Amino acid sequence: MIDILFEKYNTSADGLATTDVQARLKEYGSNVLVERKKTPILLQFLGEFKDLMVIILIFAAAIAAAWGELTDATVILCIVVANAIIGFIQKYKAERAVEALKKMLHPKARVVRGGEEMMISAANVVPGDILVLNEGDKVAADALLIEENELFANESVLTGESVPVEKNVFETFEDQSSLLCMGTEITRGTGRAVVVATGMETRFGKIAELTSTTKKDLTPLQKELNTIGKYIGAVTVVISAVLIVIGTFFQKLPFVHSFLFATSVAVAAVPEGLPVTITIALAMGVQRLAKKNAIVKQLASVETLGSTTVICSDKTGTLTKNEMTVQEVVIGSERLAVTGVGYEPDGRIQQSKNTEMLARLVEIAAVCNNATLHQADGRYSVLGDPTEGALLTLAIKAGMPLENLKRRFTKLGEIPFDSNRKRMSVIVKDTQTGKVFAFVKGAPDSILSVSEISATDKRNLLSQNDEMARRALRVIAMAWKELPSDESNFGKSGKKYDITLIESELTTLGLVGIIDPPREDVKEAVKLTQKAGIKVYIVTGDYGLTASAIAHELGIVGTGEVKIITGDDMNILDESALRELLKDTKREIIFARVNPEHKLKIVSALKENGHVVAVTGDGVNDAPALKRADIGIAMGISGTDVSKEAANMVLTDDSFSTIVRAIEEGRVIYENLKKFLAYIFSSNIGELVTVFTGLALGLPAPLTAILILMVNVGTDVLPALALGVDPPEHDIMEQPPRKPTDRIMNKRFVARYVFLGTYIGIVVVAGYFWELYNLGWTWGDVIERNGSLFAAASSFAFVLLIMIQMANTFNARSDHHSIFTIGFFSNTKLLMAIALSVGASVAFVEFPFFQRWLHTTHLELSSWIMISATSLSVIFVEEIRKVIARRYAVSQS
Ligand code: ADP
Ligand code: MG
Repeated sequence: MIDILFEKYNTSADGLATTDVQARLKEYGSNVLVERKKTPILLQFLGEFKDLMVIILIFAAAIAAAWGELTDATVILCIVVANAIIGFIQKYKAERAVEALKKMLHPKARVVRGGEEMMISAANVVPGDILVLNEGDKVAADALLIEENELFANESVLTGESVPVEKNVFETFEDQSSLLCMGTEITRGTGRAVVVATGMETRFGKIAELTSTTKKDLTPLQKELNTIGKYIGAVTVVISAVLIVIGTFFQKLPFVHSFLFATSVAVAAVPEGLPVTITIALAMGVQRLAKKNAIVKQLASVETLGSTTVICSDKTGTLTKNEMTVQEVVIGSERLAVTGVGYEPDGRIQQSKNTEMLARLVEIAAVCNNATLHQADGRYSVLGDPTEGALLTLAIKAGMPLENLKRRFTKLGEIPFDSNRKRMSVIVKDTQTGKVFAFVKGAPDSILSVSEISATDKRNLLSQNDEMARRALRVIAMAWKELPSDESNFGKSGKKYDITLIESELTTLGLVGIIDPPREDVKEAVKLTQKAGIKVYIVTGDYGLTASAIAHELGIVGTGEVKIITGDDMNILDESALRELLKDTKREIIFARVNPEHKLKIVSALKENGHVVAVTGDGVNDAPALKRADIGIAMGISGTDVSKEAANMVLTDDSFSTIVRAIEEGRVIYENLKKFLAYIFSSNIGELVTVFTGLALGLPAPLTAILILMVNVGTDVLPALALGVDPPEHDIMEQPPRKPTDRIMNKRFVARYVFLGTYIGIVVVAGYFWELYNLGWTWGDVIERNGSLFAAASSFAFVLLIMIQMANTFNARSDHHSIFTIGFFSNTKLLMAIALSVGASVAFVEFPFFQRWLHTTHLELSSWIMISATSLSVIFVEEIRKVIARRYAVSQS
């Protein structure tokens, strides 16, 4: 049957030759789904003008023009365009950043080509390729199965049906049960399949209505600000109406002036661009995270990351290097040392008295195995499970070439490894003798539970196991039995193998102890979590003693008592007892020999206890726990496609320390958003206080509509963005995690910027009067709105407002640290933004060109000196508040 397939797709079990591949790639194209055309850049740019604030301003410009105020209309339009350009560039950069991430997660496929297994980019798969499929893989193209072991696929992307479907080897083209479709997931088993269609020719390609849209869910912070924005918006409408009435009827100003003034005040009051700016800040953060090996899939996760209180981490690969080397072999009462490092086969096994048993053990290790070793630049590496790779190296060290073993034992079937059974079996035929065997390997406790063994031998093996585990070795047991050579005895259908028949009454031969060194960088990261008040639990499928040895080595647990909770313990522990157990985060607990359902239970219990939980996972069955967690973390190197899909974040280096760095970055981003908000809100309040104090005193407001707009949409913008990328405060990982229930606009935060804003407003109004008196004005004199007196005083107020806001950016950089300890010069972007804004403000009042357009005038040197001195005062005022805040914080703790 399968020959028909090979013939039709012009391929073989050894796969295509490299030359064929090139030709087919040309003929069929890349195996990618073509995305819908993106919006052209010009349309994207025009999209900027859909913003409500922008529409209001354009409307205001139109009204101004209709009333013959062409100057004002032009200036407003210029402001709008300049603002749109800045916004567009920022958003464009942000979108590019997010798009680049998608490319970093590009899928891979394992194929056979020219008789060799290799990992290739899924985009390069062509019809005729032989796919090698494992549990957790996402199928790279449409393919027909030519070999399978207990293979089930989840086809919900195509059918909507989420119960996995059993798949069979190809018999006829009509039979759908042998077709694996692109995008579906292997939930269980292993297999090989011939690719029959790629790219848009696949079923998925034909039905997929692909859009290039990424998820646009708002983050909690954005939602909070949207609500606040709406509230402020409503209030602003009322205020603007009042301003128009006051202006037109009490101050007897032309309607257009009152209207423009009310509009500019509205623009000052409403923090319109905030949600967008937050998106930009988050996207930039996501880009920084990607450089640090963490790919975050949703912007909202960045925000959540910063509030993480608990990390549940795998051991293997996350805390350790996942570079496995067999160090010891135990057979009977003998313990044999194995020399050599890594996967390099130079090294040897100590002589054994029982050479036959040792030979069989090594045969099982190498034959009950799906990994392959590869040699490149003289270095050996593994394709597949590193544990299995180590066992292949062991076989070479034992003097058994892998090709010989492969030739001698033909595989008839396999019961794949899964994290519940914690063992794997193959059924093989020894071509030398014609005998059939089951070769089984797995966790010692798991293997012993299906073996026939005397009590003393069992005790001996278990104590050897514990002794090795205490030295952080990962222990695998090997067992076997002979099967009747009549294959039809093994399973009901004659094709599948009956698991209870195969995995029972085995003979356990011995153990191998594998070293998997801890990652060097993890120790530091663990220290950081402890300072930052983040609890780390190891949740592993490996043995408790192995896990606690590693935990000790990395400092995750101290020298005190460590409780090891096993999967068996978890089975009898009910939910409330588990929650109770996890309440005290000082308690050292290691979860060992657990399966993914237990992991889900742990995550749920922690969440119920009010924690923000980050959890790692690599297998198919980890998907529910990854989804349940606040931050599901998948392994970029060793993780399955399914786990990557379920996760919020993918680690490209699999390392625990990357998680900690990501949490730190999450905190930094959140803090920077706070800095940014503190600045924007105190500036806006400063402007409002300025305008209203002026009006309340029955005088023309110190700032004209145009000047308010210039500050708000001009000089404010760049420093605010620069605060969004402020370097972190040094103690950011020395603070406890923020509470997930905390709103950013809490009393303390609001009080702080209301205080600063009010101060700014009062200083500007005072400056306005100082300048008026300076120019000979006394209380009661009329101030002509078109006169030189008003022009000078309002220019003074305008520049003072800009300068004081620039000084205020330094205040915003921390809510408790003195700017003198942070340093004025540590954010170069901010310094550049300030320089630009200050330069612009000088130009606005000193250059005749701008004087004409903005109705400003030249300021005397004495005025400039006065402005500089007064604006700096805002720093001292805030420094005093910070001293008090720090004292208060100390007295509280
Ligand atoms: P972890 O990745 O946390 O170490 P796993 O669920 O992958 O946990 O493995 C659990 C146990 O199963 C391991 O301690 C080991 O004894 C055994 N094991 C792991 N991989 C294999 C495999 N490929 N074949 C047989 N047994 C394995
Ligand atoms: Mg594992």
